[in-house]
Order: sequence, then C-alpha cells, then structure tokens
Amino acid sequence: MNKNCEICSNECCGVDGQHGSCCSIEDRDYIIGKIDDAEDFLLRLESRFGRKIKHEEIFIDYKEGKNTFPEKASWQKERHYPCMRLDLNHARKSCIFYNHVVKACSIYDIRPKTCEKFKCNFLIEMGEKEENASSFKSEDRETLLCSKSKDRIEALKLLKSE
Ligand code: SF4
Ligand code: SF4
Repeated sequence: MNKNCEICSNECCGVDGQHGSCCSIEDRDYIIGKIDDAEDFLLRLESRFGRKIKHEEIFIDYKEGKNTFPEKASWQKERHYPCMRLDLNHARKSCIFYNHVVKACSIYDIRPKTCEKFKCNFLIEMGEKEENASSFKSEDRETLLCSKSKDRIEALKLLKSE
C-alpha cells in the first residue's frame, strides 16, 4: 500500500472506490500470512514506536487463528502462520495497520516482506498488459502505478531477459 498509489487506494482490483483489499479479509477465505520476517518486523516496529512490542500484539498464531475463523480453510493451515492481526471490530476485518481514512498502510516503509512481495492478480495482469502496450507513455507510469506493480514490471523484465 502506498499513499501515492491511485489504484490501491481508489480503484483496487479495478473496482471504482475500492481500496486495500489485500489488507482486509472481509468475508473472503483469505489470510494475510505467513509473515516470514515476523521477528525482524517486530524489531522495526519497536524502533518506530520506541517501546517493547509483544508478538501477540501484532500477529495471530495458528491456535488462535483456526478457532477465530473455523469456516475459512486458509485459516486452518499451520503453514500460513503467523499472520497479521486484524481489527475484528471493523466491518472489513483489516490488518491493524491499515488506515481506512488515508486508505493506505500506516507503516508502509517498514511493512513485512510478505506485504512488500505480494502481487495481486489484478496488478500482475495490468503490468503484463502495460509491458506489451506500444503506445504507453513512460511519464504516465509514475502517476498511475504503485510500487507493487512497478516491482512486478521489473520482475517481468528480469524473467524476459533470462
Ligand atoms: S495490491 Fe491489488 S488487492 Fe492490494 S490494494 Fe493494490 S490493487 Fe488492491
Ligand atoms: S502491514 Fe500494511 S501492507 Fe501489510 S497487510 Fe498490514 S496494512 Fe497491509
């Protein structure tokens, strides 16, 4: 998520007005995990907020998660943990770091690697289309694409050059 990302904040997955779907589970069978760099991420958070932060403040582990959402298959797999803790009081059941007012991640610069690497199908498809668009103007790219899709385009370039 990026404050300057027009798509993620205003047209997520191509839906006008939608934002931050990958940071919210809503009523889908979806989990924000596994967070591979959980302990490093905790250290970054402690440095940012200037206090000790407990693992369970930020993450949900297997035992809690499988009981919280017994109807969701993705929450029943131990390999998906730890996952990001959600704000269960919010209708969208978003990650606790998702800011619904600015429609972006509130700790974007120190977010977990799992979030940094995540590519949704919409941005993947869009990146592939733009790679093939001969009329695409490079100066439009910076304002249109968020870092996630730019990363994906760079990845596609690397794959093509191999
Ligand atoms: S990465 Fe995809 S799912 Fe996530 S906010 Fe951006 S457009 Fe939406
Ligand atoms: S840490 Fe940020 S990018 Fe990752 S799920 Fe939470 S709000 Fe989204």
